Amino acid sequence: MQSLLLDNDKIFISIGKTSADKKEFVHIDHGSLIDLIIIGAGPAGITAAIYSTRKKLKTLLISKDLGGQASISSSIENYPGFQIITGPLLTSKLDDHLRTFDLDLHLAEECKAVQKRGNLVSVITDKAGYLSKACIICSGATPRKLHIQGEQEFWGRGISTCSICDSPLYSGKDVAVIGGGNSALDTALQLSQFSKKVYIINKNTQFKGDGILIEKVIANERIIPIYGAQAIAFLGKESVEGIHIVEEGKEKTLDVGGVFIEVGYKPNSNIIDTVEKNSYGEIMVSKKNETTIAGIYSAGDVTDIPTKQIVVAAGEGAKAAVWSSEYILKTRW
Ligand SMILES: Cc1cc2nc3c(=O)[nH]c(=O)nc-3n(C[C@H](O)[C@H](O)[C@H](O)COP(=O)(O)OP(=O)(O)OC[C@H]3O[C@@H](n4cnc5c(N)ncnc54)[C@H](O)[C@@H]3O)c2cc1C
Repeated sequence: MQSLLLDNDKIFISIGKTSADKKEFVHIDHGSLIDLIIIGAGPAGITAAIYSTRKKLKTLLISKDLGGQASISSSIENYPGFQIITGPLLTSKLDDHLRTFDLDLHLAEECKAVQKRGNLVSVITDKAGYLSKACIICSGATPRKLHIQGEQEFWGRGISTCSICDSPLYSGKDVAVIGGGNSALDTALQLSQFSKKVYIINKNTQFKGDGILIEKVIANERIIPIYGAQAIAFLGKESVEGIHIVEEGKEKTLDVGGVFIEVGYKPNSNIIDTVEKNSYGEIMVSKKNETTIAGIYSAGDVTDIPTKQIVVAAGEGAKAAVWSSEYILKTRW
Protein backbone atom coordinates (compact mmCIF):
# COMPACT_ATOMS: atom_id res chain seq x y z
CA MET A 1 0.00 0.00 0.00
CA GLN A 2 1.35 3.46 -0.88
CA SER A 3 1.69 5.86 2.01
CA LEU A 4 2.13 9.54 2.68
CA LEU A 5 4.91 10.58 5.03
CA LEU A 6 4.83 13.76 7.08
CA ASP A 7 8.15 15.47 7.72
CA ASN A 8 8.57 19.09 8.83
CA ASP A 9 5.25 20.18 7.39
CA LYS A 10 6.01 18.58 4.05
CA ILE A 11 4.22 15.57 2.67
CA PHE A 12 6.22 12.88 0.93
CA ILE A 13 4.96 9.86 -0.92
CA SER A 14 6.90 6.67 -0.27
CA ILE A 15 8.29 5.08 -3.42
CA GLY A 16 10.39 2.29 -1.93
CA LYS A 17 11.15 0.32 1.20
CA THR A 18 13.44 2.71 3.09
CA SER A 19 12.71 6.16 4.48
CA ALA A 20 15.13 7.59 1.90
CA ASP A 21 12.88 6.29 -0.88
CA LYS A 22 10.50 9.19 -0.83
CA LYS A 23 9.69 12.10 -3.04
CA GLU A 24 8.21 15.44 -2.13
CA PHE A 25 4.55 15.60 -2.89
CA VAL A 26 2.89 18.70 -1.46
CA HIS A 27 3.60 21.33 1.15
CA ILE A 28 1.11 21.47 4.01
CA ASP A 29 -0.69 24.75 4.30
CA HIS A 30 -2.64 24.45 7.55
CA GLY A 31 -4.77 27.47 6.61
CA SER A 32 -6.10 25.80 3.50
CA LEU A 33 -6.24 22.28 4.92
CA ILE A 34 -9.32 20.32 3.88
CA ASP A 35 -11.68 19.80 6.81
CA LEU A 36 -13.36 16.64 5.61
CA ILE A 37 -12.69 14.15 2.82
CA ILE A 38 -15.62 11.89 1.92
CA ILE A 39 -14.85 8.77 -0.09
CA GLY A 40 -17.70 7.46 -2.24
CA ALA A 41 -20.64 9.30 -3.80
CA GLY A 42 -23.43 6.81 -3.21
CA PRO A 43 -26.43 7.78 -1.03
CA ALA A 44 -24.25 7.77 2.12
CA GLY A 45 -21.44 9.94 0.72
CA ILE A 46 -23.74 12.39 -1.07
CA THR A 47 -25.81 12.93 2.07
CA ALA A 48 -22.67 13.33 4.19
CA ALA A 49 -21.41 15.95 1.71
CA ILE A 50 -24.71 17.87 1.81
CA TYR A 51 -24.58 17.97 5.62
CA SER A 52 -20.91 18.90 5.88
CA THR A 53 -21.05 21.70 3.31
CA ARG A 54 -24.14 23.14 5.00
CA LYS A 55 -22.00 23.24 8.16
CA LYS A 56 -19.46 25.26 6.12
CA LEU A 57 -16.79 22.59 6.35
CA LYS A 58 -14.23 22.64 3.54
CA THR A 59 -15.27 19.34 1.95
CA LEU A 60 -13.73 17.16 -0.74
CA LEU A 61 -15.87 14.32 -2.13
CA ILE A 62 -13.86 11.73 -4.06
CA SER A 63 -15.62 8.95 -5.95
CA LYS A 64 -15.30 6.54 -8.84
CA ASP A 65 -18.88 7.34 -9.86
CA LEU A 66 -21.98 9.16 -8.68
CA GLY A 67 -25.00 7.36 -7.25
CA GLY A 68 -23.34 4.06 -6.39
CA GLN A 69 -25.59 1.00 -6.28
CA ALA A 70 -28.68 3.19 -6.05
CA SER A 71 -28.05 4.33 -9.61
CA ILE A 72 -28.64 0.83 -10.99
CA SER A 73 -31.89 0.06 -9.14
CA SER A 74 -34.80 -0.28 -11.57
CA SER A 75 -37.49 1.04 -9.31
CA ILE A 76 -37.18 2.35 -5.79
CA GLU A 77 -40.44 2.25 -3.87
CA ASN A 78 -39.21 2.80 -0.34
CA TYR A 79 -37.46 6.15 -0.36
CA PRO A 80 -39.67 8.66 1.46
CA GLY A 81 -41.08 11.44 -0.68
CA PHE A 82 -41.18 9.32 -3.83
CA GLN A 83 -43.86 6.68 -4.24
CA ILE A 84 -41.73 5.22 -6.99
CA ILE A 85 -38.54 6.48 -8.60
CA THR A 86 -35.91 4.85 -10.82
CA GLY A 87 -32.29 4.65 -9.66
CA PRO A 88 -31.01 6.92 -12.46
CA LEU A 89 -33.68 9.57 -11.70
CA LEU A 90 -32.95 9.52 -7.95
CA THR A 91 -29.23 9.78 -8.76
CA SER A 92 -29.80 12.78 -10.99
CA LYS A 93 -31.86 14.46 -8.25
CA LEU A 94 -29.12 13.76 -5.69
CA ASP A 95 -26.55 15.11 -8.15
CA ASP A 96 -28.58 18.33 -8.70
CA HIS A 97 -29.00 18.77 -4.94
CA LEU A 98 -25.31 18.15 -4.26
CA ARG A 99 -24.18 20.69 -6.85
CA THR A 100 -26.13 23.50 -5.15
CA PHE A 101 -23.47 23.40 -2.40
CA ASP A 102 -19.94 24.68 -2.38
CA LEU A 103 -17.74 21.58 -2.34
CA ASP A 104 -14.89 20.01 -4.30
CA LEU A 105 -16.24 17.05 -6.22
CA HIS A 106 -13.66 14.70 -7.76
CA LEU A 107 -15.41 12.04 -9.85
CA ALA A 108 -13.67 9.25 -11.78
CA GLU A 109 -11.02 9.23 -9.04
CA GLU A 110 -10.28 6.08 -7.06
CA CYS A 111 -9.11 6.10 -3.47
CA LYS A 112 -6.27 3.65 -2.88
CA ALA A 113 -5.45 4.18 0.80
CA VAL A 114 -6.62 6.00 3.91
CA GLN A 115 -4.20 6.41 6.81
CA LYS A 116 -3.93 8.39 10.04
CA ARG A 117 -0.84 10.67 9.97
CA GLY A 118 -0.29 12.48 13.27
CA ASN A 119 -3.66 14.07 13.97
CA LEU A 120 -4.45 14.33 10.24
CA VAL A 121 -5.83 11.81 7.77
CA SER A 122 -4.04 11.10 4.50
CA VAL A 123 -5.96 9.94 1.46
CA ILE A 124 -4.09 8.58 -1.57
CA THR A 125 -5.93 8.20 -4.85
CA ASP A 126 -4.96 7.13 -8.35
CA LYS A 127 -4.50 10.83 -9.13
CA ALA A 128 -3.14 12.60 -6.01
CA GLY A 129 -2.58 12.64 -2.28
CA TYR A 130 -4.57 14.77 0.19
CA LEU A 131 -4.53 15.58 3.89
CA SER A 132 -7.59 16.45 5.92
CA LYS A 133 -8.70 16.89 9.50
CA ALA A 134 -11.22 14.03 9.21
CA CYS A 135 -12.50 11.54 6.69
CA ILE A 136 -15.73 9.59 6.12
CA ILE A 137 -15.43 6.31 4.23
CA CYS A 138 -18.66 5.70 2.26
CA SER A 139 -17.26 3.31 -0.34
CA GLY A 140 -20.26 0.96 -0.32
CA ALA A 141 -20.16 -2.57 -1.63
CA THR A 142 -19.46 -4.54 -4.86
CA PRO A 143 -21.33 -7.55 -6.28
CA ARG A 144 -19.86 -10.94 -5.38
CA LYS A 145 -18.79 -13.46 -8.01
CA LEU A 146 -19.50 -17.21 -8.05
CA HIS A 147 -15.99 -18.34 -9.11
CA ILE A 148 -17.32 -21.19 -11.24
CA GLN A 149 -16.34 -22.49 -14.67
CA GLY A 150 -16.96 -20.03 -17.50
CA GLU A 151 -17.62 -17.02 -15.23
CA GLN A 152 -14.38 -15.24 -16.06
CA GLU A 153 -14.63 -16.15 -19.75
CA PHE A 154 -18.19 -14.89 -20.24
CA TRP A 155 -18.11 -11.90 -17.85
CA GLY A 156 -19.71 -9.08 -19.84
CA ARG A 157 -20.58 -11.52 -22.65
CA GLY A 158 -23.87 -12.85 -21.34
CA ILE A 159 -23.04 -12.54 -17.63
CA SER A 160 -24.16 -9.34 -15.94
CA THR A 161 -24.76 -7.86 -12.50
CA CYS A 162 -26.60 -4.78 -13.72
CA SER A 163 -30.14 -5.47 -14.85
CA ILE A 164 -30.97 -1.81 -15.43
CA CYS A 165 -28.06 -1.53 -17.86
CA ASP A 166 -28.45 -4.88 -19.60
CA SER A 167 -32.08 -6.11 -19.41
CA PRO A 168 -33.07 -4.79 -22.87
CA LEU A 169 -30.22 -6.83 -24.40
CA TYR A 170 -32.15 -9.98 -23.55
CA SER A 171 -35.46 -9.10 -25.19
CA GLY A 172 -37.25 -12.24 -26.30
CA LYS A 173 -34.57 -14.55 -24.83
CA ASP A 174 -34.66 -16.95 -21.90
CA VAL A 175 -32.44 -15.79 -19.02
CA ALA A 176 -31.45 -16.89 -15.53
CA VAL A 177 -30.93 -15.00 -12.30
CA ILE A 178 -28.75 -16.53 -9.60
CA GLY A 179 -29.61 -15.64 -6.01
CA GLY A 180 -32.58 -15.43 -3.70
CA GLY A 181 -32.57 -12.01 -2.00
CA ASN A 182 -33.99 -8.59 -2.91
CA SER A 183 -31.48 -7.93 -5.69
CA ALA A 184 -32.27 -11.26 -7.38
CA LEU A 185 -36.04 -10.70 -7.07
CA ASP A 186 -35.78 -7.11 -8.34
CA THR A 187 -33.64 -8.27 -11.27
CA ALA A 188 -36.04 -11.10 -12.18
CA LEU A 189 -39.02 -8.73 -12.17
CA GLN A 190 -37.19 -6.28 -14.36
CA LEU A 191 -36.07 -8.98 -16.80
CA SER A 192 -39.62 -10.36 -17.03
CA GLN A 193 -40.56 -7.18 -18.92
CA PHE A 194 -38.16 -8.13 -21.72
CA SER A 195 -37.38 -11.83 -21.62
CA LYS A 196 -39.57 -14.84 -22.44
CA LYS A 197 -38.65 -16.96 -19.43
CA VAL A 198 -36.70 -15.93 -16.34
CA TYR A 199 -35.34 -18.74 -14.15
CA ILE A 200 -34.31 -17.83 -10.61
CA ILE A 201 -31.75 -20.30 -9.33
CA ASN A 202 -31.94 -20.15 -5.57
CA LYS A 203 -29.76 -22.40 -3.40
CA ASN A 204 -32.24 -22.19 -0.50
CA THR A 205 -35.71 -23.65 -0.28
CA GLN A 206 -37.32 -20.21 -0.15
CA PHE A 207 -36.53 -16.60 -1.06
CA LYS A 208 -35.00 -14.27 1.53
CA GLY A 209 -36.21 -10.90 0.18
CA ASP A 210 -39.05 -8.54 1.11
CA GLY A 211 -42.53 -10.12 1.16
CA ILE A 212 -43.90 -7.71 -1.44
CA LEU A 213 -41.17 -8.60 -3.94
CA ILE A 214 -41.60 -12.34 -3.29
CA GLU A 215 -45.35 -12.02 -3.95
CA LYS A 216 -44.72 -10.19 -7.22
CA VAL A 217 -42.18 -12.81 -8.36
CA ILE A 218 -44.42 -15.78 -7.49
CA ALA A 219 -47.37 -14.14 -9.28
CA ASN A 220 -45.33 -13.46 -12.43
CA GLU A 221 -45.97 -16.16 -15.06
CA ARG A 222 -42.69 -15.53 -16.86
CA ILE A 223 -40.58 -16.19 -13.76
CA ILE A 224 -39.70 -19.80 -12.89
CA PRO A 225 -38.13 -20.26 -9.45
CA ILE A 226 -35.79 -23.25 -9.06
CA TYR A 227 -35.17 -23.88 -5.36
CA GLY A 228 -32.37 -25.92 -3.76
CA ALA A 229 -30.20 -25.50 -6.86
CA GLN A 230 -26.67 -24.32 -7.53
CA ALA A 231 -24.99 -23.09 -10.70
CA ILE A 232 -21.79 -25.00 -11.50
CA ALA A 233 -20.75 -23.78 -14.97
CA PHE A 234 -21.57 -21.35 -17.75
CA LEU A 235 -21.65 -22.79 -21.24
CA GLY A 236 -21.33 -21.21 -24.67
CA LYS A 237 -19.06 -20.26 -27.55
CA GLU A 238 -18.88 -16.48 -28.08
CA SER A 239 -21.29 -15.66 -25.26
CA VAL A 240 -23.45 -17.50 -22.72
CA GLU A 241 -25.74 -20.11 -24.28
CA GLY A 242 -26.53 -22.14 -21.19
CA ILE A 243 -25.98 -22.73 -17.54
CA HIS A 244 -25.18 -26.01 -15.87
CA ILE A 245 -26.89 -26.44 -12.48
CA VAL A 246 -27.28 -29.09 -9.79
CA GLU A 247 -30.86 -29.30 -8.54
CA GLU A 248 -31.41 -31.57 -5.55
CA GLY A 249 -28.34 -33.64 -6.48
CA LYS A 250 -29.20 -33.94 -10.20
CA GLU A 251 -27.25 -32.09 -12.87
CA LYS A 252 -29.12 -30.34 -15.67
CA THR A 253 -28.58 -27.65 -18.29
CA LEU A 254 -30.81 -24.64 -18.86
CA ASP A 255 -30.61 -23.03 -22.28
CA VAL A 256 -30.37 -19.31 -21.59
CA GLY A 257 -28.95 -16.36 -23.48
CA GLY A 258 -27.95 -14.42 -20.39
CA VAL A 259 -27.32 -14.77 -16.66
CA PHE A 260 -27.55 -12.16 -13.92
CA ILE A 261 -25.50 -12.94 -10.81
CA GLU A 262 -27.15 -11.51 -7.70
CA VAL A 263 -25.48 -13.28 -4.79
CA GLY A 264 -24.61 -10.48 -2.45
CA TYR A 265 -21.96 -7.87 -2.09
CA LYS A 266 -18.43 -7.45 -0.82
CA PRO A 267 -17.77 -4.32 1.25
CA ASN A 268 -15.29 -1.96 -0.44
CA SER A 269 -13.22 -1.68 2.71
CA ASN A 270 -9.73 -2.64 1.51
CA ILE A 271 -8.66 1.01 1.26
CA ILE A 272 -8.01 0.90 4.99
CA ASP A 273 -6.49 -1.92 6.98
CA THR A 274 -5.98 -0.28 10.35
CA VAL A 275 -9.60 0.04 11.52
CA GLU A 276 -11.53 -2.81 13.09
CA LYS A 277 -13.69 -4.83 10.69
CA ASN A 278 -16.11 -7.74 11.21
CA SER A 279 -15.76 -11.20 9.65
CA TYR A 280 -17.42 -9.97 6.42
CA GLY A 281 -14.83 -7.21 6.10
CA GLU A 282 -17.37 -4.52 7.02
CA ILE A 283 -15.98 -1.51 8.90
CA MET A 284 -17.21 -1.53 12.50
CA VAL A 285 -18.76 1.78 13.55
CA SER A 286 -20.14 3.25 16.74
CA LYS A 287 -23.55 4.95 17.03
CA LYS A 288 -21.69 8.14 16.05
CA ASN A 289 -20.21 6.45 12.95
CA GLU A 290 -16.74 6.50 14.51
CA THR A 291 -14.32 3.80 13.42
CA THR A 292 -11.66 2.60 15.83
CA ILE A 293 -9.38 5.45 14.67
CA ALA A 294 -10.17 9.01 15.81
CA GLY A 295 -11.02 11.27 12.88
CA ILE A 296 -11.89 8.40 10.54
CA TYR A 297 -15.64 7.83 10.22
CA SER A 298 -17.64 5.49 8.00
CA ALA A 299 -21.24 5.17 6.78
CA GLY A 300 -23.50 3.09 4.55
CA ASP A 301 -23.10 -0.37 3.05
CA VAL A 302 -19.36 -0.57 3.75
CA THR A 303 -20.09 -0.63 7.50
CA ASP A 304 -21.46 -3.30 9.84
CA ILE A 305 -24.85 -1.52 10.02
CA PRO A 306 -27.08 -4.47 9.04
CA THR A 307 -29.77 -2.87 6.88
CA LYS A 308 -28.39 -2.18 3.42
CA GLN A 309 -30.87 0.32 2.04
CA ILE A 310 -30.76 3.75 0.43
CA VAL A 311 -32.64 5.50 3.22
CA VAL A 312 -30.41 3.89 5.85
CA ALA A 313 -27.19 4.74 3.96
CA ALA A 314 -28.39 8.34 3.56
CA GLY A 315 -29.25 8.56 7.28
CA GLU A 316 -25.91 7.08 8.29
CA GLY A 317 -24.12 9.53 5.97
CA ALA A 318 -25.94 12.42 7.67
CA LYS A 319 -24.95 11.13 11.13
CA ALA A 320 -21.33 10.64 10.11
CA ALA A 321 -21.16 14.24 8.83
CA VAL A 322 -22.70 15.62 12.02
CA TRP A 323 -20.33 13.73 14.32
CA SER A 324 -17.20 14.27 12.23
CA SER A 325 -17.97 17.99 12.13
CA GLU A 326 -18.25 18.02 15.93
CA TYR A 327 -14.87 16.23 16.11
CA ILE A 328 -13.31 18.82 13.76
CA LEU A 329 -14.72 21.75 15.74
CA LYS A 330 -13.69 20.36 19.13
CA THR A 331 -10.15 19.29 18.17
CA ARG A 332 -7.25 21.72 18.52
CA TRP A 333 -5.47 21.92 15.12
C1 LIG B 1 -30.05 -3.71 -8.04
C2 LIG B 1 -30.21 -3.03 -6.70
C3 LIG B 1 -31.43 -2.58 -6.31
C4 LIG B 1 -31.59 -1.93 -5.08
N1 LIG B 1 -32.82 -1.47 -4.76
C5 LIG B 1 -32.99 -0.79 -3.61
C6 LIG B 1 -34.26 -0.23 -3.28
O1 LIG B 1 -35.24 -0.35 -4.04
N2 LIG B 1 -34.38 0.45 -2.13
C7 LIG B 1 -33.32 0.61 -1.26
O2 LIG B 1 -33.49 1.27 -0.24
N3 LIG B 1 -32.10 0.08 -1.54
C8 LIG B 1 -31.91 -0.61 -2.69
N4 LIG B 1 -30.67 -1.15 -2.98
C9 LIG B 1 -29.56 -1.01 -1.99
C10 LIG B 1 -28.97 0.40 -2.05
O3 LIG B 1 -28.71 0.76 -3.39
C11 LIG B 1 -27.69 0.46 -1.20
O4 LIG B 1 -27.98 0.07 0.11
C12 LIG B 1 -27.12 1.88 -1.18
O5 LIG B 1 -26.82 2.33 -2.48
C13 LIG B 1 -25.84 1.93 -0.34
O6 LIG B 1 -25.35 3.23 -0.40
P1 LIG B 1 -23.81 3.56 -0.06
O7 LIG B 1 -23.65 5.00 -0.33
O8 LIG B 1 -23.47 3.03 1.26
O9 LIG B 1 -22.93 2.70 -1.10
P2 LIG B 1 -22.94 2.54 -2.66
O10 LIG B 1 -24.27 2.83 -3.22
O11 LIG B 1 -22.33 1.21 -2.92
O12 LIG B 1 -21.94 3.69 -3.16
C14 LIG B 1 -20.56 3.60 -2.93
C15 LIG B 1 -19.83 4.65 -3.73
O13 LIG B 1 -18.44 4.61 -3.42
C16 LIG B 1 -17.67 4.61 -4.62
N5 LIG B 1 -16.40 3.92 -4.33
C17 LIG B 1 -16.22 2.64 -3.95
N6 LIG B 1 -14.90 2.39 -3.74
C18 LIG B 1 -14.26 3.56 -4.01
C19 LIG B 1 -12.89 3.94 -4.00
N7 LIG B 1 -11.92 3.08 -3.67
N8 LIG B 1 -12.58 5.20 -4.36
C20 LIG B 1 -13.55 6.10 -4.71
N9 LIG B 1 -14.86 5.77 -4.73
C21 LIG B 1 -15.21 4.52 -4.38
C22 LIG B 1 -18.56 3.90 -5.62
O14 LIG B 1 -18.16 4.23 -6.95
C23 LIG B 1 -19.93 4.47 -5.24
O15 LIG B 1 -20.15 5.72 -5.84
C24 LIG B 1 -30.49 -1.78 -4.20
C25 LIG B 1 -29.24 -2.25 -4.59
C26 LIG B 1 -29.09 -2.87 -5.83
C27 LIG B 1 -27.72 -3.34 -6.25
